[in-house]
Amino acid sequence: MVVRAGREFLAIPGPTTMPDEVLQAMHRPALDIYSDQMVQLTEGLLRDLSKLFATKGRSYIYIANGHGAWEAVISNVLSRGDKILVLESGRFAVGWGNAAAAMGADVEVLKGDWRRAIRPAEVEARLRQDKDHSIKAILAVQIDTASGAVNDIEAIGKAIKSTGHPALFLVDTVASLGCMLFEMDAWGIDVAMSGSQKGLMTPPGLSFCAVNDRAHQVHKTAGMRTPYWDWTERDLAENYRKFGGTAPIHLLFALRQAIDMITEEGLPNVYLRHRLLAEAVRRAVAIWAQGQVLGFNIAEAGERSDTVTTVVMASSHNPVALQRYCKEKCGVVLGVGIGELAGQAFRIAHMGHVNAPMILGTLGVIEVALHALGIPHGRGGVEAAIDWLGETVTA
Ligand SMILES: *Cc1c(COP(=O)(O)O)cnc(C)c1O
Repeated sequence: MVVRAGREFLAIPGPTTMPDEVLQAMHRPALDIYSDQMVQLTEGLLRDLSKLFATKGRSYIYIANGHGAWEAVISNVLSRGDKILVLESGRFAVGWGNAAAAMGADVEVLKGDWRRAIRPAEVEARLRQDKDHSIKAILAVQIDTASGAVNDIEAIGKAIKSTGHPALFLVDTVASLGCMLFEMDAWGIDVAMSGSQKGLMTPPGLSFCAVNDRAHQVHKTAGMRTPYWDWTERDLAENYRKFGGTAPIHLLFALRQAIDMITEEGLPNVYLRHRLLAEAVRRAVAIWAQGQVLGFNIAEAGERSDTVTTVVMASSHNPVALQRYCKEKCGVVLGVGIGELAGQAFRIAHMGHVNAPMILGTLGVIEVALHALGIPHGRGGVEAAIDWLGETVTA
């Protein structure tokens, strides 16, 4: 017996649901890569990406996923043996740091915790100890997609600044750009990176870096540079240089459409929609948690992200079985726990092209699964989500 049919619904934190308009934007012939149209498409996207990152700095587009942009950032600003400080808040900054280590950086992890966000005061204390400024860069994620933590990047930027330490501040916004406020220049970030397939509602395959002047200065003497990722190569005049070769034309059409949709909705509205729908999810989880089996991974309410909620489950019950039930019986795909949370958690994504029926439907399916699998839970989670939206989204 199943109640799934038709389109499977992705409630995983990437790739996310793509709007029909984005899919349709790709259904057309390629452009002549030497045409004016191609130049205009490229220039418009680079300009709009910098706007999204809120920087006066230049942006770069890679035909790669987020892991590719990680490597782009590292290779453009570091030399072998450079020391970097990775701020742990789950899996992703540490993963970025591991890539840097494999490329020859000397990586120190500022120990965090999978259950909380980065503490800016701890960053400040570590930098104050580094009197000879041996740390060349600091890596952090805005939202950690594994733990569900949102880091206060503005406060971390201020903490770094207060020490007068010259290390570059590098930030991963793969799970947050276009979903919540990000202010690259105002928050003191030197390089930010992101990917296409999460908040930006575009197929996987593109990733982005935005770079300020300070990072461009450091770049000049960076020893890890390689031709494909190299910002200097990409700044050369011919349009194909912007892609290190043939442009990913159809992905660019898709991204153009997605950014146009975000612009039309208005960024503040997009952020608010994410916050309201994320809170609806949290209201439901808080009720389910009354059954003493489920709970929030992130301990502090204020550190739970607006794009993904990680729900931990007592060892007496199996989150993988729940995930499988939702997918196979109801056609809703939840994220599973990854890293330290493998086999102990499931994740509900609420990023990008999400709306009330998608979120209420997902929550409803989870409640069906909890019921069907006999997992103890507080009754009325979906109702709490409905009440929240009904009270907040007023007529
Ligand atoms: C998904 C994700 C990545 C990795 O992106 P890929 O496109 O899968 O390589 C990096 N950082 C964060 C925060 C992510 O959520």
